[in-house]
Amino acid sequence: MPNSPYRHVFQPIQVGTHTLPNRIVMGSMHTGLEERDDGVERLAAFYGERAEQGCALIVTGGFSVNEAGKLNAHAASFDTPAMAQAHRPVPAAVHAHGGRILLQLLHAGRYSYHSKLVAPSPIRAPINKNTPREMTDQEIEQTIQDFVTSSVLARDAGYDGVEIMGSEGYLINEFTAPCTNHRTDRWGGSFENRIRFPLEIVKAVRAALGPDFIIMYRLSVLDIVEGGSPLSEVRDLAQRIEAAGADVINSGIGWHEARVPTIAQAVPRAGFAWATARVRDALKSIPIVAVNRINAPETAEAILAKGEADMVSMARPFLADPAFVSKSASGRADRINTCIACNQACLDNYFEGKVSSCLVNPRACNETLMGLSPVKQAKKVAVVGAGPAGLSAAETLAARGHAVTLFEGNGHIGGQFALARAIPGKQEFDETLRYFSVRLAELSVDLKLNTRVTAEGLKQFDAVVLATGVVPRIPDIDGVDHPSVMTYADLLSGARDPGMRVAVVGAGGIGVDVSVFLAEEKSASHMDPAAFRRHWGVDEPAENPPPPREITLLQRRPGKMGIGPGRTTGWVHRLTLGKARVEMIPEVTYERIDDRGLTISAGGERRVIACDSIVLCAGQESVTDLQAPLTAMGLPVHVIGGAKLAAEVDAERAIREGMMVALEV
Ligand code: NAP
Ligand code: SF4
Repeated sequence: MPNSPYRHVFQPIQVGTHTLPNRIVMGSMHTGLEERDDGVERLAAFYGERAEQGCALIVTGGFSVNEAGKLNAHAASFDTPAMAQAHRPVPAAVHAHGGRILLQLLHAGRYSYHSKLVAPSPIRAPINKNTPREMTDQEIEQTIQDFVTSSVLARDAGYDGVEIMGSEGYLINEFTAPCTNHRTDRWGGSFENRIRFPLEIVKAVRAALGPDFIIMYRLSVLDIVEGGSPLSEVRDLAQRIEAAGADVINSGIGWHEARVPTIAQAVPRAGFAWATARVRDALKSIPIVAVNRINAPETAEAILAKGEADMVSMARPFLADPAFVSKSASGRADRINTCIACNQACLDNYFEGKVSSCLVNPRACNETLMGLSPVKQAKKVAVVGAGPAGLSAAETLAARGHAVTLFEGNGHIGGQFALARAIPGKQEFDETLRYFSVRLAELSVDLKLNTRVTAEGLKQFDAVVLATGVVPRIPDIDGVDHPSVMTYADLLSGARDPGMRVAVVGAGGIGVDVSVFLAEEKSASHMDPAAFRRHWGVDEPAENPPPPREITLLQRRPGKMGIGPGRTTGWVHRLTLGKARVEMIPEVTYERIDDRGLTISAGGERRVIACDSIVLCAGQESVTDLQAPLTAMGLPVHVIGGAKLAAEVDAERAIREGMMVALEV
């Protein structure tokens, strides 16, 4: 690619008998479409759009090779000719743009959330309430055959190959690791016996499918569980997998039960490339792929330039931006809509049984439902408020051809996002703001900063989108106007210093974020892979420095605290707050604030929390002053985001509503 500054990324590479034009893999991501009636059509559009934008090698979400291996009772398996026939449009959509696509084959083993789960040994996973049944010798042989059958069906559907899922603590990984394989037959005990299962699978698939069928093997380069495979065994297994016939090794980082974050915002960019690098020189000639928290072309370039891996895999960044490859190739990385590693609309949605999408790109996985067709008649549209909702509305309105003016009272765009970026791990929000800035400029949106527009000032517009957001709620506590009290906005904007002893009122998403900010303000673990390893004890006991402050987190409700809103990230927050020895007190009644601190009642006792400051994180209230006068003037007004409903507004809903309203105007 002559224009690309990422010369290592855009070096061709040989994978088996195939030459690929670049070194980026679109990694496997289960979207929830795999199980839906309209799933094939939507997956074809989803992958096809990414192949059209230069993605040369795609791996699908995981499909089980048999009933026992399904992730749950409703999960998809790829084990019938009818399934293969139905899937034909998916690889066809990718091939239409010159891309290649592999079907991921998975057996979930003891991570199966149904009653018929099996594993090498009957040892329950800490994240599953069901105990697996030990597989018989015959079942093991049959499962190897099932991998072959599914591979043949994948080829019949038109797939270019398969990724054999050997990591993350699923069945194959359970065979290879000593902690989950206590067998005494030829499938357990010695290293030779424990690795027999994956080697037999790879050999059998290669023998049945011939040399042109791509076999990618996902190897757990780092288990992060007690009794996982030591590095010497991982390197040895990589060599044997190569010899057995794999074309490329993909990396897997951490089992799902590992209590170290592996993809959340707490992980720095390229935070695990070192683990792939430790295995690379064990391989003779096939490439190895680095994974996890690679979301920018410069990060990919650095990994390849340092020789840590031969290729890089990204999954979520392709939800965030289908054109990641083409924008990188043309040297326009500033136009990339960057994945911010929030997990909110992708993994959290999937685990709630919904179709995955993306917080920063609501079209992801909805390509057939959300067309961005140009408007027939352009209108003059005012958008008031340049937070996530307003930015999203302005971008989509302008992209469709409307003439858009965006008013913002502050001297910068971003709204709540601009505040949240101060929280450790949320520095990625800067990328979203950079993306919107670039888009607004290229779409000629007239951005008016430092402008508090009045209803009168909007009368010349054909339509108004009100995205005026929220203000922090000031709870009715005696003494709330005491000088020690500040809002989360005062704290995160840097306007106020919290001191060394802080009480946080409200333990919702922002109360938890603020506590993380107070606990980790000076930690480098979110930015630096070496500091992250020490902080989380990835390969040695974790550092346990004294907490930087005394933090007390309070809520009126009973129940578990400190989990934050995300299913896949809540546990990370809880561990972080635990490490910082944050005291969490539920079921409190706030009595008063005075020079002594915050007086509460909890558990039938009155107590004074002596503190230097009290940070209010008690929810928000909508800002809607303009709505009534604009409606009275007869202007079409669309209210979105926090201005529409402050309760439970988050950036995901705000950006989605911004895009949806822009498709209606
Ligand atoms: P929130 O999650 O609704 O929490 C508000 C907190 O304030 C609750 O703990 C509530 O608990 C307390 N509260 C409410 N009224 C109060 C009152 N009058 N006096 C004292 N306490 C009161 O709201 P938020 O923390 O402001 O977050 C706003 C939105 O942003 C939420 O939807 C949240 O999910 C989202 N968010 C998401 C993330 C993320 O990482 N995904 C991060 C931050 C925020 P009690 O009533 O029990 O005291
Ligand atoms: Fe990335 Fe968040 Fe989008 Fe998931 S929802 S792809 S983590 S930006």
